Amino acid sequence: MQTAAPVTSDLIAQDLSISEKRPAPGALRQRTRIRRQMLGYVCVSYLIDTTILLILAHANTLSPAIALGYLVCGIGSTTTFFLLAESGISERFRDPYMVIPQAAVGLTIMLAFAWLAPTAGILFLSNLFVVFSFSSLRASARETAAIWTAMSVGLAILFLGTSQPITVPHDTHVERVATMLDLALTIGRCMFIGIFAASLRQTLYRKSVKLKEAYRRIEELAELDELTGSFNRRCIMRMLDDEIARSSRIRQPCSVALIDLDWFKRINDAHGHPIGDEVLRTFAITVFANIRGIDRFGRYGGEEFLLILPETEDDAAARILDRLRMIVAELDWSALSPGMAVTISAGIATLAPDETPDGLLARADQALYSAKEAGRNRIATG
Ligand code: GH3
Ligand code: MG
Ligand code: MG
Repeated sequence: MQTAAPVTSDLIAQDLSISEKRPAPGALRQRTRIRRQMLGYVCVSYLIDTTILLILAHANTLSPAIALGYLVCGIGSTTTFFLLAESGISERFRDPYMVIPQAAVGLTIMLAFAWLAPTAGILFLSNLFVVFSFSSLRASARETAAIWTAMSVGLAILFLGTSQPITVPHDTHVERVATMLDLALTIGRCMFIGIFAASLRQTLYRKSVKLKEAYRRIEELAELDELTGSFNRRCIMRMLDDEIARSSRIRQPCSVALIDLDWFKRINDAHGHPIGDEVLRTFAITVFANIRGIDRFGRYGGEEFLLILPETEDDAAARILDRLRMIVAELDWSALSPGMAVTISAGIATLAPDETPDGLLARADQALYSAKEAGRNRIATG
């Protein structure tokens, strides 16, 4: 008698990639453990059935040879699957757990013994429910349909092709106890498979939630500059394209500012590159703390940043940038390195009708150049 996969849903859910060609050694070990557990439970299941069959043999319902034959077939097939698994041959199967072949063998054993011992036929036939539930745990829809068809053909041959008197043992008290026990245990096994399938679904759901979260994090990382946590160049340029398209569409102003740290090479030279990195990080945090939710801030390159200010006219943009400039200039940079001072210059441009992102950036760059020329630590509008 086949039984439900006696494995934790976590383990099997981790190993759902049944077409995986070369599983990692860890996954292989896990697979081996799961398979041994499964086969162990199948063995226990055959032993339980054999015990019930022996009770029936004792009550003269069937021959002890049937109980013995059933045990030999059950344990023999399970041992064969065990050897196939341990020798690594099962790894060549699409499903290394060999659920479908096991179901096929289980099905054959049950139908054969229902034919051989029709006086206890129902005991074998009820096990078909367990075999079927077990196989549909891992089988595809097509495989499940194939197993069901094979099962139906087997039943048709048994009931229509033979005249075996398939019955439920119920004449004596012992027979009634044995039948009751067998049915209760069969239903118990089906129930176990149902519970297992539900927990498997839950595990898969949890995993899919975790995967989504990991995917979101990867996307986030791909968009961010590692050092400053601001958007990287690729991302901020895409945002600029989107924002310009949006502003043109809804006829709203949009300003951009190219911000460059003044004399940054000197800062690196005087205080060291790691302190320079720290300055970039602190500058980015300062900007984030002082811009609106709708503004976008990204690293344009080196110590140059792009700030996108949607729905912002040129004079408002100049006020925002001048405020930022003052905040940066007034920060206590000496806390990072004694004697250090940091200032920024920025070039602002406000979107003109039909202007391209490149045109807008070129004007902002020109304005930044003017701010530098005019002595740095200042804002210029292009
Ligand atoms: P200016 O006021 O004209 O902008 O002068 P500057 O020294 O800031 O400009 P310059 O372009 O000559 O130097 C930029 C420096 O920024 C040179 C480069 O080593 C430094 N830099 C660029 N990226 C990083 C970085 O990620 N970390 C650190 N520490 N330094 C960087
Ligand atoms: Mg600079
Ligand atoms: Mg620069």
